[in-house]
Amino acid sequence: MPSPSFIASELFAKHDIQGIFSERQGGISPSPWDGLNLGFDLGDSHQHIENNLHQLCMHAQLPLPHRSKQVHDTHAIICTGTGIQHTDEADILLSRTPATSIAVRTADCLPILLVDTKHGIAAAVHAGWRGTAKNIASIAIERMQAMGAQTEHILASLGPCIQSCCFEIDMQTTDSITQAHPLAKTHIKISREKAYVDLQSINRLQLQSSGISDKHIEQIKLCTCCLSTRFFSYRRDAMQSGRQLAIVALPSKL
Ligand SMILES: [Zn+2]
Repeated sequence: MPSPSFIASELFAKHDIQGIFSERQGGISPSPWDGLNLGFDLGDSHQHIENNLHQLCMHAQLPLPHRSKQVHDTHAIICTGTGIQHTDEADILLSRTPATSIAVRTADCLPILLVDTKHGIAAAVHAGWRGTAKNIASIAIERMQAMGAQTEHILASLGPCIQSCCFEIDMQTTDSITQAHPLAKTHIKISREKAYVDLQSINRLQLQSSGISDKHIEQIKLCTCCLSTRFFSYRRDAMQSGRQLAIVALPSKL
């Protein structure tokens, strides 16, 4: 069996911080969730998912991450201690505890990892179109600042998600996203009366408006919907889609 596959953030690595985005190769989940499924309640067994998670963390040398119940809103939880699956509903996970990791689960939505490298404060953010319309990226930055983070020290990594090639949205969704940022409409393409949105670029705008330096933002421009052998995609596979995990770890000391 191949090792669990993942992309490591190059931006974070330059600062000796680990941030990873899992892919679907490796793991033991059977079709249609083959193989590194990390999402519960999809029909795959807990045993497979736990095994996949442990394998991924072992290979990436990461502590088991804190995870939440994601509901496309903007609530946040602050995580300490050993990583567990929380029952709390939250789309922003925060931590300032050394040697902990936090994660969000996606299959097309945008995962955003944030870390203040000076103060040791991290966030993992689940930004779908609903979260983007609610400006969840900026809310996450505010929550980090409330914990003592400063924007000049924050790095942001925007992971693989559905890109504008595949992310067709209806007019009501277009209106909601357009209101998310004054320049959002520059990242919505209209083609043959259909609208296609670039979620990553709109979240990048939101981060920049919150004071994050452009050189501190990394955008991994891979489409989860196009790349069927590498990623799970809800748009492509609907109820038969597994889930990726994006994880950021705070080191034991900075
Ligand atoms: Zn695509």
